Amino acid sequence: MTSPAPEQMHAISDETRHTVDDVLDYARRRALYKDVPLDKPMRPNDLSRLASGSITEEGIGARRAIALFENVLAPACISTDHPGYLSFIPSAPSKASLAFDVVVSASAIYGGSWMEGAGAVFAENEVLHWLAREFGLPASAGGVFVQGGTIGNLSALVTARDAARQRNRDAGRPDPARWAVLCSAEAHSSIASAAAVMDVDVITAPPGADGRLHGDAVARALDEHADAVFAVVATGGTTNFGIVDDIAGVAAATKAHDIWLHVDGAYGLAAMLVEELRPAFAGVELADSVIVDPHKWLFAPFDACALIYREPSLALRAHTQKAEYLDTLTDSPDWNPSDLAIQLTRRSRGLPLWFSLATHGTEQYRATIAHGIDLARRIADEIDRRDGLSLVRDPQLSVVVFRREGWAAADYQAWSDRLLEEQRGFVVPSSHAGEPVLRFAIISPLTTYELLVEILDSLG
Ligand SMILES: *Cc1c(COP(=O)(O)O)cnc(C)c1O
Repeated sequence: MTSPAPEQMHAISDETRHTVDDVLDYARRRALYKDVPLDKPMRPNDLSRLASGSITEEGIGARRAIALFENVLAPACISTDHPGYLSFIPSAPSKASLAFDVVVSASAIYGGSWMEGAGAVFAENEVLHWLAREFGLPASAGGVFVQGGTIGNLSALVTARDAARQRNRDAGRPDPARWAVLCSAEAHSSIASAAAVMDVDVITAPPGADGRLHGDAVARALDEHADAVFAVVATGGTTNFGIVDDIAGVAAATKAHDIWLHVDGAYGLAAMLVEELRPAFAGVELADSVIVDPHKWLFAPFDACALIYREPSLALRAHTQKAEYLDTLTDSPDWNPSDLAIQLTRRSRGLPLWFSLATHGTEQYRATIAHGIDLARRIADEIDRRDGLSLVRDPQLSVVVFRREGWAAADYQAWSDRLLEEQRGFVVPSSHAGEPVLRFAIISPLTTYELLVEILDSLG
């Protein structure tokens, strides 16, 4: 076999043209599916049998590779944008955003530096500044789109600890033997994960009877641990229940000790775009950093988290990588997104949201988010009316947690398996305080009241 010409896969030949056409045709069809199939996972040995052997010395060709993806691999992935996908936090990218994701890939933009990606960075910043304004942060606030909320939380906490260290240095104070982050016992698992990576302790303050972290609990914990705590995390919509902490109360406690306030709004902060929900988020404007995931409730494709700092210069100091080959970048005053989080090379992952926002305008976003909140309330009322079903708590955002009386964990699991098997919905059992429960997380505007009622009916 003669070895292939080096430029073969980059050349504009009939072959590469067909490849691009076939891929874009498939992408176009998938983006415009009338009925997205829910699909389901396959066992490893079944996939081995059906899909092994695609990596060969000479290649199997685009046609066969796409067919393999369309007919075997894709159906073995659950569609997170299916209207009946109600577990975890679903995704529901707008058509505009997912189409533009293809453009981002086709454009080979380096999104890490202004020098290389100025236009893309500018557009991403337009979105970040709009979000910052919505959250009540000052015009000088700024940030970066990172991979997800986990990296967003970690990056913000690393900045917070760096700021605390710097303050100790400036004041001639020693650092504590162990640093700690303070959060509610209901905070997302990524906070504990970030703390483990940073080798810092987690101090949990008990939420009130309403499930929200309040200022008094934070104040009590800070009275005991103020020297060790470098940041307090308030959650703007817990993943389990959609509970928004008393952010204003928490902020007052952190300001009294001059401690960094981070708001984890990965799922819920999007609800602040809805006028009636704004009061629930009072205090966000006092945050030193916030995150919200566009791949959750801002209708963008995976994966994107908007990380915003009140004072971006503090993030630059904590995160800028220094290397000789980067000197031209780090020596310039340009806005380089790479320098604001744990990352270097980065995809311009904020562009799909930028394009969709520019296309539809902000009112469309407010209305689509409001749909989820409204639907959650309506189905919660229906659950409340039904014998045999009961709410675990009233929904605040778009998460509804409820129980089917008389069912044990195995009953929930068998029901959930059947629902997926019949391709009607994806609702996995969850648990609360040791009790098995069901949970609807509603994001998609294509999720209907009728579909949710049908799922309730199937609970017998
Ligand atoms: C989803 C979520 C995270 C983690 O975000 P990823 O994008 O999945 O990494 C963090 N905090 C909260 C409150 C979340 O809902």
